Amino acid sequence: MLVVKFGGTSVGKPERMKKIANLVLTMPGKKIVVLSALSGTTNTLVRIGDHLIAERHTAAHQEIAELEKHYLQFINELYESEAYQAIGQEIVSRYFSLFRLLAAGKFDDRSYRELLAQGELISTELFYHHLQERKVSARLLPALHFMSIDENQEPELEKISERLKPILETLNNIDILVTQGYICRNHRNEIDNLKRGGSDYTASLIGAAIRAEEIQIWTDIDGMHNNDPRIVKKTIPIAELTFDEASELAYFGAKILHPSTIVPAQKYHVPVRLKNTMDEKAAGTIISDKGSRGQFKAIAAKDGITAINIKSSRMLLAYGFLRKVFEVFERYKTPIDMISTSEVAVSVTIDDSKNLSSILEELRGFGTIEVDTKQSIICIVGNMLLEKEGVLKDVFHALATVPIRMVSYGGSQNNISILVDTNQKDKALNLLNEGIFHL
Ligand code: ADP
Ligand code: ASP
Ligand code: MG
Repeated sequence: MLVVKFGGTSVGKPERMKKIANLVLTMPGKKIVVLSALSGTTNTLVRIGDHLIAERHTAAHQEIAELEKHYLQFINELYESEAYQAIGQEIVSRYFSLFRLLAAGKFDDRSYRELLAQGELISTELFYHHLQERKVSARLLPALHFMSIDENQEPELEKISERLKPILETLNNIDILVTQGYICRNHRNEIDNLKRGGSDYTASLIGAAIRAEEIQIWTDIDGMHNNDPRIVKKTIPIAELTFDEASELAYFGAKILHPSTIVPAQKYHVPVRLKNTMDEKAAGTIISDKGSRGQFKAIAAKDGITAINIKSSRMLLAYGFLRKVFEVFERYKTPIDMISTSEVAVSVTIDDSKNLSSILEELRGFGTIEVDTKQSIICIVGNMLLEKEGVLKDVFHALATVPIRMVSYGGSQNNISILVDTNQKDKALNLLNEGIFHL
């Protein structure tokens, strides 16, 4: 079984949706097709939700009306026959009635999450009927029946697997199953989601749950590039990555993959292939247990980082001190990304600053605290980073004109992390592209 995921741009235009149907039909064997919402839809639903939370009803209704026009145009071009035009209109009218219903009642966080889920529900329904019109035998597999997260928002992989198995056995004679990315149920059985960009994560969770042959992520670029193509002009695709390398890149900001995508795939050794819907012949990237050796493979950057420095000449070297510091972050369920220590101080970085003021309040008991916000982690990924001489020389030489706030090196063979002020990020990515990739 293959799990094939198509992102927003891959389904964002009627001709593209038709194209991915062709693509799926050329793939051998059984497949589960995971779809995102049409490009722009989730952003629009977020804006509608924000308007409704803030009780800006007119603005919300304007957005709903514009989105409805977009969908009416979409079905008009997607379906050929009158019968399917009518089906398309019924689908659009049903979803937009629901939006207006949600907008009319008490709009809380739960309604917001229900609203956000509609993008994937409508895209899969439209695609499924497109396959029907082409007389392709397929089924809709409702993600809300099997995809779940626990009270810590962590996907319940074993339960997902147990729920999927009997469903797949029943649908044994069907080659194409279409399901929604991104959406799930939470521990209260409410509709929830896997956070923005979460359709990649859905594909990987399904792939791991059913021990698929391969997970394919089809998007608008020919694989993982060596640097962020939105910021750096000359970037090149990477043919092979190990799970560890891809995991670091996804976690540290390579937008092509949701930060957690690699985790379930790696657990069950299911290879992940990144492919370009706009150029299906392009090789893309294969992510697996194996990987080619190469000193520097790629760079990614993650914004919105806060650095916290704790200075305590009395206690820092005492054993048990760092444990106490880490326990504060643990109590607030806030992961630490980077750490650097000196004799009198320790610096850590976090990207979730929701509980920052409570964390700082507790840390003040340990010493003097300094906080730098608007920082970015630049993560350089490769292998043999610890074995070769001159690795840091090349990196620091490239970054000679960039002020560096923190460095983390030696934690693994795969990663050098560098913290810079976000206003230095673009410059740093470009300098590293020239300095270490010679592009
Ligand atoms: P989808 O809608 O298919 O999920 P995304 O927009 O989430 O697509 O991800 C694809 C985009 O990720 C690319 O268009 C590219 O701009 C961006 N991107 C950022 N970093 C990288 C990278 N290192 N390699 C490839 N693409 C990247
Ligand atoms: N539609 C969701 C988003 O835009 C999930 C995804 O596209 O992966 O975030
Ligand atoms: Mg994405």
